[in-house]
Parts: sequence; C-alpha cells; structure tokens
Amino acid sequence: MPGAYETLLAQLRDIGKLNALDALLEWDQDTQMPPKGVGTRAETVAFVAAQRHQRRTSREMRELLSQCAEHDADPVRATNVREARRTHQRAANIPAELVEELARTASHARTIWAEARRKNAFAAFAPMLAKLIELKRRQADAIGYADHPYDALMDEYEPGASTAEISRTFDQLRARLVPLVRALDGARRQPDASLLKRHCPRSAQERLCRRMAEVLGFDFEAGRLDVSVHPFCMSVGSGQDVRITTRYDEHYFPAALFGVMHEVGHALYEQGLDPAHMFTPMGSYCSLGIHESQSRLWENLVGRSRAFWATQFPVAQELLGDSLSGVSLDAFYSAINVVRPSLIRVEADEVTYNLHIIVRFELERDIISGGLKVDDIPDAWNAKMTELVGITPANDAEGCLQDIHWSMGAFGYFPTYALGNLYAAQFHAAATRDHGKSRHSLTESDLRSLLTWMREKIHRHGMRYLADELCEAATGARLSVDAFMEYVNTKYRPLYGLEAAQA
Ligand code: ZN
Repeated sequence: MPGAYETLLAQLRDIGKLNALDALLEWDQDTQMPPKGVGTRAETVAFVAAQRHQRRTSREMRELLSQCAEHDADPVRATNVREARRTHQRAANIPAELVEELARTASHARTIWAEARRKNAFAAFAPMLAKLIELKRRQADAIGYADHPYDALMDEYEPGASTAEISRTFDQLRARLVPLVRALDGARRQPDASLLKRHCPRSAQERLCRRMAEVLGFDFEAGRLDVSVHPFCMSVGSGQDVRITTRYDEHYFPAALFGVMHEVGHALYEQGLDPAHMFTPMGSYCSLGIHESQSRLWENLVGRSRAFWATQFPVAQELLGDSLSGVSLDAFYSAINVVRPSLIRVEADEVTYNLHIIVRFELERDIISGGLKVDDIPDAWNAKMTELVGITPANDAEGCLQDIHWSMGAFGYFPTYALGNLYAAQFHAAATRDHGKSRHSLTESDLRSLLTWMREKIHRHGMRYLADELCEAATGARLSVDAFMEYVNTKYRPLYGLEAAQA
C-alpha cells in the first residue's frame, strides 16, 4: 500500500494536471476560440477551477498532510509537502462564499473598468473598486498575516514576501533611480529612435522573432509561438509544451521582437524545470518575481545589450531587409535603449519602469491598510507619478485607470515586476562573474553557458527555495538594488554622454 507521501504526491500531480488543463483552455481562448465559444468556455473554466479548489481543500488532503512529517531531510519531499500545506491552508482559510463573491465581483468589475477607462471616468469604476478592496481585505484577514494585510495578498504571487522588506528595497531603489532618470532626461545627447518606425512587413518580423527565439535557446519541439492581443507565456505541459504569443505592428517592429524575447525568457524557465518532478511543486516555478527575472534577463540584459547585437545585428539586417538598411549597429543599439519618463507602464523603458511599479506598490499598500480612500486614488496617483517619474497624467485613463490588475482583484501582483528587474540584474552579474570577464560580443555558445547557469542555479530548483533564499543560494547574497543600479549606470550614462556615476 502506498504511504501518505506517495498518495499526497498523486493528489498534487492531479492538481498539476488541472492547472495544465486550465492553461490550455486559456491559451485556446486567447489564440483560437471563435467568439461564440465564450459562454461555454467560462462554464468549462469554472468547472476546472472548482475541481482544483475541491482537491486542494478536501478532507483527504488535510488528513494526508497531517500524516506527512513536519520536517523531512529529503529536499524534494520537504518541498512538496511544504507547498501542499501552504496552498491547502490558504484555500481552506478562505470561506467558499468569499471565493465566489470575489470571482463574481471581479468578472463584473473587468467590464465596468474597461468602460470607465474608455470614458475616462474614474467615478464610474470607484464603487466597484471599493467593493473589491473590501473583499480583498476580508480575504487577507481570512488568510491571516503577522504584520500587514498586504503580506497575505502578495503571498499568492510571491510566497514569503513581506511588505516591510519590499518597502525597504523600493525606498533604496527610488532614492538612487530618480536622480539617474532626471540626469538622463536632462542630458544634451538624446538617442534617436525614429529608425524603429520604418515600415516592416509582418512576415519579415515573424522570421526574425523565430530566429531570435532559437538563438536564445527556445525549444520549438517543446513550444509554440502564436499571435494574441496581449502577449503571454503559458506552460500547458509542465515544461514539455510551452506556448508563447506576440502581436505584430508593421510600423514598430520592436514591439514584437522584444515582446518575443521577453516571453522566450519566461518559456526558457518553464522548459528548464526538472521533468522528473513534472506536475508537482518541485517541478514548478518559484515565484512570479523569479519568473519575471528570467523574462527581463533575456529581453533586457541580453536582448538590449550591444554585445548581443554585435553578433546578431547582421542577422536582423538580412531578415528585415529595407527596414534596417543603412543603419549602423551603434544607431540601432541606442535606438532600442531610449529612456524617457512616460505615463503608461507597459510602454515604459527598463529604467523608468521600476518607478511605475513603486507608485503602484505604495498606493496598494495604503489602500489595503485603509490609509488611502478610494475617492482619493486619482489625486494620490498623479502626485506620486509627478514625484517619482516626473510627469503628470492629464486624465485617469492615462493615470490610475490604465492597468487591468485592480479590476481583477490582483492586489499584490505589481511588486513582482520590479523584483524581477532586480533579480535579473543580480543573477546576470553573478553568472558573468562565474564565467569570467564580460564580453564585447555574445556568441551562441556564450548564450548557452548563460542559459546553463540559469538552468543549474534557478530553473531546476523548482519551488525548493523561497525567492530570497534562491537568490542567496545562486548569487551568494540576498536581493539588493546594487546590481541593478550598477547595470543601468554603466549602460546608460555613456549612451547619454554623461560622466561615469558615483552610483
Ligand atoms: Zn513577464
């Protein structure tokens, strides 16, 4: 007869398969499904979600967990049991009526938010937002927290993250980043990005995107690249079947190119998870912050580096033809690295992006603690944008209504984006250190050794460590803003003709 752990593992694998099924339904909905399928698809998705919730919270699960040892010397068993306990506790603590009310309110709120954004009318969204915030506070109370209710909400995306710790990190980041952004913005030399707006046929972009995905190491035998309105990466088969998407703009090819490099980074992580632990926590990603570190690393630290294009620019010129003819490597390199304060987060460059996230993090933290009232959000948003990014939204559509997250009830998600940038820089610095001096041109074999480093230090550990433990194990130090600040200072000051930094 199988022991408690073996039975638990079988249950976890079933939950993992339900996750894969859910991902496949979502991928299909965003890439293939005909419009009339939306009603029945919602039913199917809800059915899968209910099955998953039932398995996570079942009495059998509780009994199995109580029979598994509290501490286990074997790291695989310890990881799987710890994570099963965490998700069971979380799910079991939230009353079923609250789960349902949150789901119903959020699905309703998405439509109302979209309408309010279109009409640029925060007041139309405010009552719904107030309701969602109240439900999220109840959810935080139900889950429980030691210090701040926001901790309980972040735990869904970044297990183990604490509001106090992230506040400290982000305070250090803003203190060093704001002066750099001001200096770049005021520099006399400003890069010219107009060459990126040349017409570029979709077919040529598709060829370039596929080629760059292969160069970075994406395995097309274990993945696909398709088109969707909002680009994403989704694992539908535990790393053996990873779907990424992009969208093409014939008058701005970098959107697809860097979008694909970003999603390839996510996909490389999924493809690098240990197949021996398929469908279990040990074979799953660590946290959203760590996931984002992988996408940012390949998109920015590699994909926007001069060393990468020193070898790949001739390939891009050949594949894009007229769109890049007569363009020099240096002109291309500075065009893809424009830093400019802007209003919309998803269009922000890698330097100012973090300031957009700090604005959202500080607002969310105060919204959830009750310190910031819903009606005061637009003014608070605009004041923080002015203070940090140095630019003031003219209306709520380009201010506090721009992101979908709050309408989905996804409070606590935003910080993971900036954590991803910080982790990416620290991992990249450690990998470069381990491989000797940094190079002026990255060959495909250099890219393979970088990927091997990520596979060994990050990917194959699955959920064995919490994000900050993983960072310490991989780089020898806990997360700090130093590597990121070193990276942006070293890269951007010369591009803008500024003196080297005192960082
Ligand atoms: Zn991402």
